[in-house]
Amino acid sequence: MSFRASVLTLYPQMFPGHLEHSLAGRALERGDWTLETVQIRDFAGDRHRTVDDTPAGGGAGMVLKPDVLAAAIDHASPRDDARPRLLMSPRGTPLTQERVRTLAKGAGAVIVCGRFEGVDQRVIEARGLEEVSVGDYILSGGEPAALVLLDAVVRLLPGVMGNDASGQSESFEDGLLEYPHYTRPAIFEDRPIPDVLLSGDHGRVDVWRREQAEKLTRERRPDLLEVKKKTPKG
Ligand code: SAH
Repeated sequence: MSFRASVLTLYPQMFPGHLEHSLAGRALERGDWTLETVQIRDFAGDRHRTVDDTPAGGGAGMVLKPDVLAAAIDHASPRDDARPRLLMSPRGTPLTQERVRTLAKGAGAVIVCGRFEGVDQRVIEARGLEEVSVGDYILSGGEPAALVLLDAVVRLLPGVMGNDASGQSESFEDGLLEYPHYTRPAIFEDRPIPDVLLSGDHGRVDVWRREQAEKLTRERRPDLLEVKKKTPKG
């Protein structure tokens, strides 16, 4: 059973975007995952196919209409759909590798891409949309955020990455940022590869990498170490 992504958007031409290429693209061709786009505008009832309206209470910008979006969601995701319904949103729960891993184990995802000032609150509640953020900054639309989420998920699907082990020791997988990498030449602009990596002693290499990962995490993301302390399996 392959991972099924349904993306609701006003810009279906933005998909599959970069996911058409490289590992994700080959996986899409193989059918390891499927991607359906739904044009939200197709569910507008009026002659002008209106999808947005002015915000109640006043203020700048426009808001995606709840009736139009609900009709698009009901088309893409019937009541008994087992897939989570996500709304890309800067107010959402920040996306983590842990959430990505959970999504990759599931049946797929229904992903709503917002535009304008956002979507009417009532459709979020009525259709049980889970708001997901890709970071503390504002994009002009949910499409790049959806592509980020799908990229992170698809690379974890069985068989997508040639060497499955490379998914194991990456940043965040063990609550740490990853250690630094080196490859030939042995000396680059007077900078040698650290001796330990050329020693052939795998035990010492492992210890060094662990130390480097802990040092980097302490320096750059001390918040990750706090999370690690709180979660027993760490
Ligand atoms: N007025 C809103 C921002 C709207 S941006 C606010 O201040 O919260 C327009 C759309 O882009 C949003 O509806 C959302 O779908 C998407 N978007 C913007 N930033 C995002 C982020 N950091 N993560 C996920 N989606 C985002």
